[in-house]
Amino acid sequence: GGSATPAAAGGTAPAIGAQPMVICEDVHKWFGAVHVLKGVSLQVQPGEVVVIMGPSGSGKSTLIRTINALEPIQRGRIVVDGIELGPDLHRIEAVRREVGMVFQQFNLFPHLTALQNVTLGPIWVRKWPRRRAEELARELLARVGLADHAHKYPAQLSGGQQQRVAIARALAMQPRIMLFDEPTSALDPEMIKEVLDVMRELAASGMTMLVVTHEVGFAREVADRIVFMDEGMLLEEAPPDRFFREPAHERARRFLSQIL
Ligand code: ADP
Ligand code: MG
Repeated sequence: GGSATPAAAGGTAPAIGAQPMVICEDVHKWFGAVHVLKGVSLQVQPGEVVVIMGPSGSGKSTLIRTINALEPIQRGRIVVDGIELGPDLHRIEAVRREVGMVFQQFNLFPHLTALQNVTLGPIWVRKWPRRRAEELARELLARVGLADHAHKYPAQLSGGQQQRVAIARALAMQPRIMLFDEPTSALDPEMIKEVLDVMRELAASGMTMLVVTHEVGFAREVADRIVFMDEGMLLEEAPPDRFFREPAHERARRFLSQIL
């Protein structure tokens, strides 16, 4: 029985010599008869930014959903901040408290203002008093450049603004790691930068991040490591300069020739 690490009170500084924030060991996932993750092993260290790339259908979303306990695995091991996630997912709640997730579709509540979207988790899950939750939410909305938009509803915000609210909402739960699944793929080009800038700032603040993205500029600048997936396998892991200059696998080369 692993002992749970207490959730840090908002601390995001990289811990030197600490245990890995995420351990995936020989992770297998089937959807029915379809073998979607075929023995994926990956570690993410505290404070590290890892970018996952790979063709559509290669299992990127499924992999990060398993780390957030949104999908059970059938074989292997996942440990998030010391919390062991076996095939039976008995520690879902403990893990969800550690992990913030940002999706391609922002998934904001349309009938709630930006501020209310951000305070929802702290009030209902953390049981914080409203005033304390609103204080934090205003701080976070300012951090993502939306101090003046707190009272607006999602429909009154651009896609880029909505995604920044979604990031603030995830941060409001004071996660130890942030997972991003193609956070800019649904955005118009002129809005991509404002979201990537927020993610850059988050990385610089020491947040541990696992990011599925095809934004090469972001990956080059911000990632400590690129992980390349294909057909449910992790084919290659390399620092960005090496991955983009000379990927080891033919499939990675083919993929890069399509996105570069
Ligand atoms: P990626 O994010 O790299 O595009 P996904 O993880 O979404 O890949 O999908 C990997 C494979 O798993 C695909 O073949 C996809 O069709 C399949 N898949 C994903 N989610 C489900 C599901 N809920 N039920 C059945 N098959 C799924
Ligand atoms: Mg996906």
